[in-house]
Amino acid sequence: MEYTPGTAPLILIAPHGGTLSPATLADRNCAACTTANDVNTQELARAIATAFTQATGQAPHLIVNRLHRRKFDGNRDRDEAIGSNRVLDTTWLWYHAAIDSARARVAAEHSRGLVIDLHGHAHEIARLELGYLLDDAELRLSDSSLTSRGAMTRSSVARLAREARVTTDRGVAVLRGDGSLGTVLTMRGYPSVPSSQDRAPLAGQPYFNGGYNTQRHGSSGGGMVDAIQIEMPGPGVRDTEASRSRFSAVLASELMLYLVRLYGWQVTR
Ligand SMILES: [Zn+2]
Repeated sequence: MEYTPGTAPLILIAPHGGTLSPATLADRNCAACTTANDVNTQELARAIATAFTQATGQAPHLIVNRLHRRKFDGNRDRDEAIGSNRVLDTTWLWYHAAIDSARARVAAEHSRGLVIDLHGHAHEIARLELGYLLDDAELRLSDSSLTSRGAMTRSSVARLAREARVTTDRGVAVLRGDGSLGTVLTMRGYPSVPSSQDRAPLAGQPYFNGGYNTQRHGSSGGGMVDAIQIEMPGPGVRDTEASRSRFSAVLASELMLYLVRLYGWQVTR
């Protein structure tokens, strides 16, 4: 596990891009465990961190699981993450303590901030799937239904939905308003769902809405730091070094603008 502390109100996590697979470490032993990696997501996390630092003069916190997913899953509760291999108990504890410590530091230095949990999907539609802990059926509801059901308070961006700097960015607008991450990334050439252009996955379309990390490290249970899961397609994003380099630059600059616009971050460089 690797934790590189930063100074920006941004925490990047790469839970499924590890390549180390030592024979001395038993494979995870659990029924129906997913053991396939999200290919190239570790490289992407590092490239995004570098691009963000170049753009802002401040480094994000970066947490990387370097073990292959057949050994350790960086987005599951302890038992499933280590698959009964108790020798990794302390590794799991250390990994999440690193994220907790990054969140505590962001909260202390900036009062608020954002976790981005980076993944890769192989779904038919090559769009970014942004996960806020709301499932596809909920996302298909109207903005007013989502609001009346209190959906945003259960989301991984509950705090941002309540306290975004500009009032028109609050509530369901965090998912698919003009300033939402999905909308701005779509405008930069990376189609995203949810967004103003693609409000929700259609019934039957596969969609990842978040997981252990967005639940544990976001603001659904309170706290100062929000979390968004970004599931990246292969084509044009993860597949080649040129794709990764182009996408990293775009995501880094949009995350900077997002932190400035929605969180009131003052970039001082
Ligand atoms: Zn994943």
